[in-house]
Amino acid sequence: MEITFRSCRLINRLLRKPLALTSYRSVVNVAAKDEVNTELLTSFNKDIQDGGAVPVFRRALLFPTRVALQDEVGIYTYAGLYQAAAALSTEISAQLVGETERTIAYMCGNDASHVIVQWAIWMTGNIAVPLTPLHPPEMLKYFLTDSMSTIVICTQDYEKLLRPIALDLSRPLLVTGKDKEITAQLYQPNSAFMKPRVVDNLSDVGRSNSWYGSKDALIIYTSGTTSKPKGVVWTHSMLQTQIAALHSAWHYSGNDVVLHTLPLHHIHGQLNSMLASLAAGARIRMLPSFVSHAVWARLLGMGERDDSKVSVFHGVPAMYMRLAADHDKMFADARTAEYVRNTLATRVRLMCAGSAPLPSTLFDKWEKISGHRLLERYGMTEVGMALSNPYRPLEGRTVSCVGAPLPAVSARIATTGTLEPLVTVESPAPDLLLGLAKDGSGDEYRWDRPKVTVHAQSETEVYEGELLLKGPAVFSRYWNRAPKLNSDDFTSDGWFRTGDTASYDGKFKILGRTSVDIIKTGGYKVSALQVESAILEHPDVEDVAVLGFEDESFGEMVTAVVVLKENKKLTLKDLKDEAGKRLAPYQLPKVLLVVEQMPRNAMGKLDKKEIRRLYGDKLGTKK
Ligand code: AMP
Repeated sequence: MEITFRSCRLINRLLRKPLALTSYRSVVNVAAKDEVNTELLTSFNKDIQDGGAVPVFRRALLFPTRVALQDEVGIYTYAGLYQAAAALSTEISAQLVGETERTIAYMCGNDASHVIVQWAIWMTGNIAVPLTPLHPPEMLKYFLTDSMSTIVICTQDYEKLLRPIALDLSRPLLVTGKDKEITAQLYQPNSAFMKPRVVDNLSDVGRSNSWYGSKDALIIYTSGTTSKPKGVVWTHSMLQTQIAALHSAWHYSGNDVVLHTLPLHHIHGQLNSMLASLAAGARIRMLPSFVSHAVWARLLGMGERDDSKVSVFHGVPAMYMRLAADHDKMFADARTAEYVRNTLATRVRLMCAGSAPLPSTLFDKWEKISGHRLLERYGMTEVGMALSNPYRPLEGRTVSCVGAPLPAVSARIATTGTLEPLVTVESPAPDLLLGLAKDGSGDEYRWDRPKVTVHAQSETEVYEGELLLKGPAVFSRYWNRAPKLNSDDFTSDGWFRTGDTASYDGKFKILGRTSVDIIKTGGYKVSALQVESAILEHPDVEDVAVLGFEDESFGEMVTAVVVLKENKKLTLKDLKDEAGKRLAPYQLPKVLLVVEQMPRNAMGKLDKKEIRRLYGDKLGTKK
């Protein structure tokens, strides 16, 4: 069934409507207090104190005239996105006859339509399930069935892909965006462009903050590299806590211009780049996908207005790797490279990396290229962002480490297998209340020192084992599956089992997925991540995956699958000689396979399941 949108017409009418004075002003990082609608701010804060959650869309009321998002089509104010979402929400409500707490799957490009559809779903009190066209139809069917989505919404671009699936599963399909302009009320340039237009009094849409305080917001599916994808349930309260934690730790502000190039079906693109930025009143520059030369152009901001020049970038290591490789090709002469470095060093305030290990060679190379010490953090679909290097001081950002628990996160290292607690590190919860930046000094951003409790003293003061997490932003259940304590997911006392092996010596270090990356060889445990990082130091190596393959003598054999730089050759002896400068003999690969291409998933992570499938015959049996 197709439902054409009356909201298209409504939004188009809104676009033409003359704009009147607003009573709302921005509150994040505005200098003058008299610009602020303190009444609204106070009422939001009272709701938060009473246990409510202010959903991200509602924060738009605090800074309606600001630019929220700039995509390939246009520039949108917070009011524009809000009004477009409000119009769409009436369509959804009509379709659901006012029902709430239903799941609604949606597929949009990386542009304003994603925000509008998501906010519209939230305004109706329903749960948003983002889908990506990167997944094959069978997988999409699985997501729709598993999430029990009542309706599917998509923009015109994805109608062809989703219509047969929706028909097959008998789900109504709502197609938005017949005309690209429906996506928002544009922030139309005029002679007063420097002063954003004022807008109508925006009527408050949606349920009360106290209602949202106990309701589900989002389902994000795990990448399923080791098992079938599971739907992680994110509540509005979890999002509120995560956003407050990230704001405190990484100093988000309304002055930020965030370059967004990450997939939106993953927590990294949803939370770090999109929702936390929108909640701060920042401006997002959204690209349809990651294309290195387009990212370079935006990062350098040549010919762009000052207020749209990028100041924040969140990427995965594979993106920085591509950018670094293209940097060498595009900015080969020293003067251009110096210009690039100066531009990034002075204009950009934060460059973050995560979702996969950041090799030390890349950390160093990026510092040379941009003057930025990448801020590496560790996160997961189930917990959002959990561990992070510090924002300040810069020297505190340590290569190959992921720092300390973010505000509201408790992290524990427990013995692998028996789960005996070894050490617990707890960061206090952030202040959830919304406020004004004081004087630009950054004093308002607090990330207090964590409390460390040692349960079993280690002589070396290094604790290694399974990483467990707990806190108000750590998920409590997968969709459609009863939560089970004392299982692979949670310990008997409610700690989430990440499945990652980590060490703690004052800072956390991720050693890899316990099931895949911890290789047991000749009585030793070897972290595949550490071996990969060392092999990448070899000047002829472009990419590498390290795996353990069964072996009669060693238990498992450390095996390196390598992609070489153009016209290069490598023998196992060369590799061992170079990697041996950084690794102990037992960590060195005993087998080398040179391949043309390395399978990586949409997030740029090594797909070790696929590597085994493709090259396993040449290398041995499964682990
Ligand atoms: P996802 O749920 O797709 O975000 O994947 C989460 C997994 O990515 C974690 O369990 C880790 O294995 C890995 N991961 C995330 N951040 C890092 C990091 N900074 N270093 C190493 N592995 C990471």
